[in-house]
Amino acid sequence: MVVTRFAPSPTGYLHVGGARTALFCWLMARRHKGKFILRIEDTDQKRNTPTAAQQVINDLRWLGIDWDEGPDPDDLTRSIGPHGPYLQSRRRNIYDKYLQKLLDLGKAYYCFDTPEELQNLRQKAQTHKKTFLYPRPDKFPDAEDLEKARADGRPIAVRFAMPCREIVIDDVVRGRVTFAAGEFGDFIIRKSDGFPTYHFACVVDDELMQVTHVIRGQEHLMNTPLHQALQQALGFRIPVYAHMSVTVSEGGGKLSKRERANTFLQFIKNNTHRINLNALARTGHLTPSELDAFLNGQSAPDGPLITAMAEHLGVHLPEINLIDFLHSGYLPEALINFLALLGWNPGDNREIMTKDELIAAFDLERLIKANSLFDRQKLIAFNTEHMRLVEPIKLLDHFKNYLRAHDSPLAQADDAILAQLLKACAGARTLADVENKCKFIFIDKIEFDPKAVIKVLKKPDAPDLLAQSRTALAQLHPWNENSIRQAIEMLCKKNNVGLGKVAQPLRVALTGTAVSPPIADSLVLLGKQKTLKRIDAALQFLKHEEYGD
Ligand code: GLU
Repeated sequence: MVVTRFAPSPTGYLHVGGARTALFCWLMARRHKGKFILRIEDTDQKRNTPTAAQQVINDLRWLGIDWDEGPDPDDLTRSIGPHGPYLQSRRRNIYDKYLQKLLDLGKAYYCFDTPEELQNLRQKAQTHKKTFLYPRPDKFPDAEDLEKARADGRPIAVRFAMPCREIVIDDVVRGRVTFAAGEFGDFIIRKSDGFPTYHFACVVDDELMQVTHVIRGQEHLMNTPLHQALQQALGFRIPVYAHMSVTVSEGGGKLSKRERANTFLQFIKNNTHRINLNALARTGHLTPSELDAFLNGQSAPDGPLITAMAEHLGVHLPEINLIDFLHSGYLPEALINFLALLGWNPGDNREIMTKDELIAAFDLERLIKANSLFDRQKLIAFNTEHMRLVEPIKLLDHFKNYLRAHDSPLAQADDAILAQLLKACAGARTLADVENKCKFIFIDKIEFDPKAVIKVLKKPDAPDLLAQSRTALAQLHPWNENSIRQAIEMLCKKNNVGLGKVAQPLRVALTGTAVSPPIADSLVLLGKQKTLKRIDAALQFLKHEEYGD
């Protein structure tokens, strides 16, 4: 049976690259009716935050990736599956057992170096232009040495004695990769804080959890010889390895959090004169001096704070973490489809694919070696398609989830209204587009977008046509899509003008902007009373503008 695992080190929100790894592992397991395991690699006490694992789990659930074994999503301390616990921090006794085995076999040894001593050794190697390899002692420390080190208060770690022989990795994506003998030195498998290192915990768990296929990012290729040497020393199986190609951003580099912060800083730089920095600091929960440090490139606040400040200023930042895509109004179905095609293809020209179609077509053999481009325009196109394809009831769920994440004024609306909005906005590219187009219904006072005022309301015939619309609509009964459409068509005929001439001024009057769902839908959604009130306010506004008050 195929068994794959996704093994994030939870240090914060799930990066979209991590989501892609998770997706490929999941697709592989589902394709072969195997098992997909979620394992939390939280052995780095300095980097893991307590909420990070829960966040990763929430992110995976949003994406629609489920696991057969792993932590219980509702209570991380509980396990689902027979090989738990699935949090490495809770498996220390298991690692210790295998560690002892290596010590007993003389394949690992204690070491007591302080960080300064190690730094000196490293520096020496650097001065001689040599790669640093830890100098293995002629005789491994014994129990007495261990006692003494303990009494002296020295750090106590354990190193694996790396065999000096060529190592060959047969990787599904990269082919045969050979590492020369002596390329790797003895490496730490248990740190002085008592926790195993990533290499050791990962190898022990892949064996005990019966993982058959390790699918992970290319950056781990250099770790694989270490893992293989450990597997051989412990008499473990060697799983199939597939190191996935890298995804690059349109700017050419890695998709990194820095890209988001930089876009934000650039915007501030270009708009300094019209930004109220105190209000901005308040939105980001920063003191003015913390904001200052950020603007001067000395420190960067947490991702969610940057997101809050960007939303406050209406700046769009490139999405990097999975949660950013939720905030920008993408559908998980679209993201899954898009991510699956980064470094893989179904072997025909299909692009838009559902989850089930992806599962049916997935195949490790078609993972490609070349880097893939994170093409954001393509993602928008995919999202537009999936907005159309997804079942209305699911789309409604996604919309509600999106609105909740935003504290949007639309979140108060009931399901029937939200479903109506989605229907009226058919063809929208993202859920954010739907929200933006429909916000006007839920706010008390609209603000006129100066561009829309110039382009539409200030056209010579606009005020008159708006006034005529007011009269016609005031008499209208019943108030529905049909009656409204007829009334508008009649006005167009009477004045011998196209639909836009009547509809656009109305749209700006109702929404303050030039975008909304189709005009009759917009009027129905807003209701008769509010419609008439807003037309009056727009006519009033135009009068004031004319007389310059
Ligand atoms: N915890 C490692 C990471 O997040 C897992 C690597 C692996 O899949 O072996 O990169």
